[in-house]
Amino acid sequence: METLYYICAVISIQYIRTEEKETKMDTVNRKLLDFIAESPTAFHAAHNVAKALDEAGYTRLYEDESWRVGSGKYYVMRNSSSVIALNIPKTEFRGFMMMAAHSDSPSFKIKEYPEDRAAGQYVRLNTERYGGMIASTWLDRPLSAAGRVMVRENGRIAEKLVNIERDLMMIPSVAIHMERGVNDGKKFDPNTDMLPVISAADAKNSLRALAAESAGVSEDDILSTDLFLYPRTPGTVWGADEEFVSSPRLDDLQCVFACLNGFLGAKPAESAAVLCVFDNEEVGSGTKQGADSTFLEDTLVRVCEALGRSGAEYRAALNQSFMVSADNAHAVHPNHPEFADRIDRPAINGGIVIKFNANQKYTTDSVSAAVFAELCRDAGVPVQRFTNRADMPGGSTLGNISSAHVSVDTVDIGLPQLAMHSCYETAGARDTEYLIRAARELFSRSFRRGRNGMEI
Ligand code: ZN
Repeated sequence: METLYYICAVISIQYIRTEEKETKMDTVNRKLLDFIAESPTAFHAAHNVAKALDEAGYTRLYEDESWRVGSGKYYVMRNSSSVIALNIPKTEFRGFMMMAAHSDSPSFKIKEYPEDRAAGQYVRLNTERYGGMIASTWLDRPLSAAGRVMVRENGRIAEKLVNIERDLMMIPSVAIHMERGVNDGKKFDPNTDMLPVISAADAKNSLRALAAESAGVSEDDILSTDLFLYPRTPGTVWGADEEFVSSPRLDDLQCVFACLNGFLGAKPAESAAVLCVFDNEEVGSGTKQGADSTFLEDTLVRVCEALGRSGAEYRAALNQSFMVSADNAHAVHPNHPEFADRIDRPAINGGIVIKFNANQKYTTDSVSAAVFAELCRDAGVPVQRFTNRADMPGGSTLGNISSAHVSVDTVDIGLPQLAMHSCYETAGARDTEYLIRAARELFSRSFRRGRNGMEI
């Protein structure tokens, strides 16, 4: 079978610059919003993480080669949408200090040949849901398409990033005069209510033509597509004291951004620092590049093998390792505080949320909570706690899935936010910096488990 060569190219990534601000905190949020704007899909998020690692002197390792590594800085990518970076301080390191966040967010995936004539006057696109979004938030706002396409190039099959950087589509709601019950709990059918209009019926341009133009290829050379809708509304910092930050994809790019910045700013420690950015959390992580794959295990095993460590030494290193699964959490809602637990009600700008669940949907237990809380105390970062109401099931995240493959003490945490899985979410402007500080502290420290307790 012919070998496939995947070649990545970034196609004119847009920079949305928010207004210049003076305070340090605002600089952090401006950079956060730039990162999110440049990352409309998981492919772009992974690309931008890799770009930051390249700039910081990390060497890319490829999974189709045997690895020669010593102490130093490395990263690996899988499927162009997941990244694992390692900073190995010295070859006899004890274990791994790890953080994981996810690169994907709920969206609508555009089908391969999506154009569909509608009502005799429009062209709309055939889509299906990716993950569980709040459907109504996607209505009546400018949308565009981004992702990747596979193209025929010099006798090979190459991969190109695509971002059509303009207001291109809209999913119009139905006028209230025609749908009087719209405010009484409307159900949104993804097969009819959520299809975006891209043009009038007589338009000359098609999505495929625009994607080809964005990728710098001819339309005929596009072999297949992974294209998703994304909202065009830029992020903003708002509130009487500028205490809120709102943007698409805060879940989970706020954690990706903060973990990455903490990782890059950390001092070398006795443990090897490992940053994981996984795709497909929103659809259960069960892909070759998701948290439920061999990606992390393969990477850690291969690094240990390259360093001449035995299988027993790898397992001993896991015993001296710690994982933080960072995925945003629910803040108490201003209009619906009844959905929160009676005591554990995370506050926006109240610091990092440690998530607990008795049935271990969240991996946190007293061991990992204690380790993480001590770290945050040393970093001067406040922590708060989240539990679901005892009569409400909650969501799940990366921690327990990753733990099934790489079984280490793990804590589930996140930054408090409102409107999770809306296409425009809201979090705390001060909380981003808290997670950067906690991540920097974590990656600068080492985890040691002894007969008489743990040290960090
Ligand atoms: Zn998430």
